[in-house]
Amino acid sequence: MAMANKLLLLVSLVAISSCTCTAEVIHALRPQLGSDGQLMQRAGIPCDSWRLAVEAYNKRDWKTVPAECESYVGHYMLGEQYRRDSRVVVDEAIAYAESLKLAGGKGKEAWVFDIDETSLSNLPYYATHGFGSRPFNATSFNDYVLKGTAPALPETLRLYKRLVSLGIRPVFLTGRTEDQRNVTVKNLYYQGYSGWEKLLLKPLGVKVAAIAYKSGVRQKLNDAGYVIVGNIGDQWSDILGAPEGARTFKLPDPMYYIG
Ligand SMILES: [Mg+2]
Repeated sequence: MAMANKLLLLVSLVAISSCTCTAEVIHALRPQLGSDGQLMQRAGIPCDSWRLAVEAYNKRDWKTVPAECESYVGHYMLGEQYRRDSRVVVDEAIAYAESLKLAGGKGKEAWVFDIDETSLSNLPYYATHGFGSRPFNATSFNDYVLKGTAPALPETLRLYKRLVSLGIRPVFLTGRTEDQRNVTVKNLYYQGYSGWEKLLLKPLGVKVAAIAYKSGVRQKLNDAGYVIVGNIGDQWSDILGAPEGARTFKLPDPMYYIG
């Protein structure tokens, strides 16, 4: 290779290696690395296996990401793997929805969407709060929510729009509380969500575990004549508890657990 070409290649490699790309938007200090086994070895504990156990619901009732896995989870969330994993889920969900015999908007076929880490991403918050490795701080998190600046998860928005075009009615069902309705509506609109059938927030003062609360609301939807053809969330508590919906989809979330 000619010296000039070698020099050009070297300059290109330096430019690539110093690129913070999408991470810059959320957390400029995080290098974009993969989430392969090397990170596991560096962490000293099997963070890959820990994440798989979390996603498969083998690990439950955990409070925080293990301190040794903060960096691993950060790399996963800000790298390409999180997006790729979400894309597979949504590809499956769209293929499923397109296979249904639908009433084309004349019926009451509904699809339940969770909001946090499903429709809207709180990654800008978690990127500056240890990616779930620190105890949850309701005050600072609510301050973040009230800004109404959470970005859409692009894959979920793609699913949402496809479902609307198929005549399936989106229903948001969230653990966010009624006092956060206005900011949540604005946030959803700004991020491209529109035309939803219902936005169901938790009444203030309700102290029920997430599975019981959400399954109870889904039962009310059934009782009102809705046919829940699909249900998507980032927590198992979004998709467990009858009536779950005809099919459920679990998005990745290694940052926190809601039981
Ligand atoms: Mg959620």
